[in-house]
Amino acid sequence: MRIDVVSIFPEYLAPLELSLIGKARQDGLLSLQVHDLREFTTDRHRTVDDTPYGGGAGMVMKPEPWALALESVTETSTTSDSAALPTLIVPSPAGEVFNQKLAYELAEEEHLVFACGRYEGIDERVLEWSEEHFRVRPVSLGDYVLNGGEVAVLAMVEAVGRLLPGVIGNPDSLVEESHSDGLLEYPVYTKPSSWRERDIPAVLLSGNHAKIARFRRDEQLRRTSERRPDLIDRLEIGALNKADLETLHSLGVDKDQ
Ligand code: SAM
Repeated sequence: MRIDVVSIFPEYLAPLELSLIGKARQDGLLSLQVHDLREFTTDRHRTVDDTPYGGGAGMVMKPEPWALALESVTETSTTSDSAALPTLIVPSPAGEVFNQKLAYELAEEEHLVFACGRYEGIDERVLEWSEEHFRVRPVSLGDYVLNGGEVAVLAMVEAVGRLLPGVIGNPDSLVEESHSDGLLEYPVYTKPSSWRERDIPAVLLSGNHAKIARFRRDEQLRRTSERRPDLIDRLEIGALNKADLETLHSLGVDKDQ
């Protein structure tokens, strides 16, 4: 996969040189380049913002540096299907909310481009113009406002990058994670089995794989109904077996009603 990030603070993206994503880049599983938007300005002061038409607080990012930056990225795009457009992710609190499903979807793409806004955001015409060159997706990290798109890009690139083949040593760890099956993950424990007068649940030492699987599934259902009842509401009834429904019933949740 190829990823390009455009930002006025390229150094903000330095953590993407570390850990699993940094290793994926070194191993050639991910090609990631960060571009400084100011390189695409034409004035002495390298200006990227101006006052908003219609008045109001704050500044708006000027369109031309963005067009030049994005053009320079598309000029070198080498998707295997020449008709396929790269996907332009525009971090924005006004976008669709990022989640694991979208991470899986984006992990299938050959070329992702991220446009990090600052100030009050990017002149809206850049998004309209970009439709000719990209599949454009405004994406929000959540229902709160950050100072810029860089933190959102760090989160999204990490969530997408770890799904690429070869990035995580044991791909099974992706299967059992929170959100992979619509539920939160069960609690996990390691040695010692007794720590500061707290014992791990005895079933985990039983060696009975069926019982352990049931315990973990029940814990997923319990934790999800306590912390994220909205996820339980969204679960398809077909994804639940009889034992799941009984567990939910004991937690006061009746999915079939
Ligand atoms: N005026 C904008 C609004 O109310 O929708 C907020 C602008 S914010 C201060 C500056 C930039 O931070 C945005 O252009 C976007 O790139 C980024 N940003 C802020 N909150 C975000 C969020 N929840 N998800 C993704 N990006 C965000």
